Amino acid sequence: MKIVLLPGDGIGPEVVAEAVKVLKASSARFKFTLEFDEALIGGCAYAATGEALPARTLDLCRQAQAVLLGAVGGPAWDHLPAEKRPEAGLLKIRKELSLFANIRPTLLYPELSFLSCLRPDLTAGGVDFAIVRELTGDVYFGRPAGLEVRSGLRHAFNNMIYNEEEIRRIAQVGFRLARSRRKKLCSVDKANVLEVSRLWRSVVNETAAGYPDVALSHMYVDNAAMQLVLDPVQFDVLLTGNLFGDILSDESAAVAGSLGLQASASLGDSSFGLYEPVHGSAPDIAGQNKANPVGCVLSAAMLLRFSLGQEQAASAIEQAVRDVLKSGRCTGDLARKQAGMEIVSCSALGDLIAQAV
Ligand code: NAD
Repeated sequence: MKIVLLPGDGIGPEVVAEAVKVLKASSARFKFTLEFDEALIGGCAYAATGEALPARTLDLCRQAQAVLLGAVGGPAWDHLPAEKRPEAGLLKIRKELSLFANIRPTLLYPELSFLSCLRPDLTAGGVDFAIVRELTGDVYFGRPAGLEVRSGLRHAFNNMIYNEEEIRRIAQVGFRLARSRRKKLCSVDKANVLEVSRLWRSVVNETAAGYPDVALSHMYVDNAAMQLVLDPVQFDVLLTGNLFGDILSDESAAVAGSLGLQASASLGDSSFGLYEPVHGSAPDIAGQNKANPVGCVLSAAMLLRFSLGQEQAASAIEQAVRDVLKSGRCTGDLARKQAGMEIVSCSALGDLIAQAV
């Protein structure tokens, strides 16, 4: 089973190294073989080749069963034109590999509910929901987009656009995921204002006919942003477009306790997937062995589950993370949540999780 590693920039290489440690421990325990290849993406790729997503990287990814990515970006590349920036490499790889469905779980175990940024009574029983975010459309890709001078004033514009097929295929991912969980799907839109959202809502309603066992509801995005912090326990699966999902999933990180805990899977029509922590390259802590590797480790667990069919190994990794955090060892981003937690380095936390597996 071939996995391409794209460590990227900043803390990306640090967290990917820990995820690889854990993947190796799980393949040893569950007796399957993993083969790793490594390639460049983001700022380091630009520095080496002049492109944020070199052709070699894309070719290697196309030959693999799954890709594990760290993070891209950093101040060294902030001055570059949009198409050369590290983030452009990320948007391009998702588009080129037709990875239109991004799954971002938020899982806060009851015994770790003190990690949440919310008041303890709101998360005492734990939180468990997932955002299914459309990834290759919306304002991020809609054309025309640009900046021009009209009547002496600078105007900038982006185009929020979805066709019904794009909405239907992401809605199907949402319904299928809800079916495998608590069978509740909440579709998020802004149908009171936006034409795009009205189409979104009607296609989601049409798609619902194929999933009579899933309870569908709709919520405006502004209300969803509030409900996530008022009562996150109400949600099972949230279905969103690209822009709304981008924003709500970072808000979910605060519900879970740290951006460093959040994992994601980007999937298309096959079992191939790209897996990455939700966080960025965290230039403020890069190179200091301080980053929380859990988001990347849990992304690797999703990789085993969705792309390699190794459910037992995936569950063992998730259990190992839960046990290690429960034992009171964690990185600095979590330690401030509760007195008495022992701060360990990124690599030490990776060692502990690998040993627990
Ligand atoms: P960020 O996610 O890198 O960092 C936000 C804050 O969270 C920082 O204080 C950081 O130290 C902290 N943090 C993030 N990950 C952490 C971890 N694993 N452990 C502990 N603390 C962690 O977001 P930012 O600062 O807005 O962006 C920095 C760079 O990353 C920018 O160049 C941005 O474009 C890029 N970025 C990349 C991705 C990606 O690769 N998927 C996502 C978001 C941002």
